[in-house]
Amino acid sequence: MITASTGARITPAATPDWRQLWRESVTDAHELLGLLGLGHLGDRLPADDAGFALRVPRGFVARMEPGNPADPLLLQVLPQLAELDAPPGYVMDPVGDMNARAAQGVLHKYDGRALLVASGSCAINCRYCFRRHFPYGDEMAAAGQWRKALEHVAEDPSIRELILSGGDPLALSTTKLEELTAGLTRLPHVIRLRIHTRLPVVLPERIDDAFHAWFASVPLQKVVVLHANHAQELDDDVAAACARLREAGATVLNQSVLLRGVNDDAATLHALSERLFSMGVLPYYLHQLDRVQGSAHFEVDDARALGLIEDLRATLPGFLVPRLVREVAGDTSKRPV
Ligand SMILES: *Cc1c(COP(=O)(O)O)cnc(C)c1O
Ligand code: SF4
Repeated sequence: MITASTGARITPAATPDWRQLWRESVTDAHELLGLLGLGHLGDRLPADDAGFALRVPRGFVARMEPGNPADPLLLQVLPQLAELDAPPGYVMDPVGDMNARAAQGVLHKYDGRALLVASGSCAINCRYCFRRHFPYGDEMAAAGQWRKALEHVAEDPSIRELILSGGDPLALSTTKLEELTAGLTRLPHVIRLRIHTRLPVVLPERIDDAFHAWFASVPLQKVVVLHANHAQELDDDVAAACARLREAGATVLNQSVLLRGVNDDAATLHALSERLFSMGVLPYYLHQLDRVQGSAHFEVDDARALGLIEDLRATLPGFLVPRLVREVAGDTSKRPV
């Protein structure tokens, strides 16, 4: 809103600051269960959140169904006793990230694309995530004005695309992102900026005016790859955030993780693809779970996963069927299942 007399910008009181909303996230599992009328399940929680803190923004909690212990959004964030199981084959670094490190915070596994581990933080802690064990402490590309990361990219003209990942790169301040793009414009071989983020889904307020202004000004091809696993995550606020990303010039895609009990049925995946497209977002990847310690109870076997994709192919246009892939350490791309 612009006042006629002074031209000063007035932030409407109804627009909360995303950092404030982030600070107000639910971090206590008993509180989360209480908010959903599920307090009686408190004695089934693992001690110490099974070693990976619960964190979930209140806006995301509001999309959960009260009274439903199997709610697909709740299952993605609630610590479970099953996380303490340690079946063979579930390891700390399933995708070989520690071996693909090219410079501080830079993973260079695939031709033409360098991935920056931009931030160790996320607005939500997803129980199935490899991040629960990743040693972010000294691996942040954003450290020191992105200097080491930008040096690596400058020295390798084969890098055409820079991918910001994490953690969640949009957990960084917009000022920090501006620092990066200021450095990038001096590297003419980089033509594309890609951002992998879950923030527009779990905290859509992140796509605020300052972010939009910065992003729209970036003179590169732009891709945003969201991470949503279920249509119920995608309310009207998320749709509005996606519209702003597209208006700033980005192609918006989505990747999901196939998760037992959350989205491992054809109707759920079908609804997700349709909801994404209604927001102008195309499905990109459906990932088979990384076999990270503590996530075995989410795994869906390959035969069932392929059956689900067959069902989607039979009922959706081809452009709404995500590619089923898994990440295998040492491969030169994601591997089709
Ligand atoms: C997944 C990934 C990419 C991107 O792969 P695409 O198939 O282009 O989406 C790039 N670098 C690393 C290290 C990755 O893990
Ligand atoms: S990196 Fe992505 S999947 Fe992992 S905790 Fe953060 S938001 Fe969730």
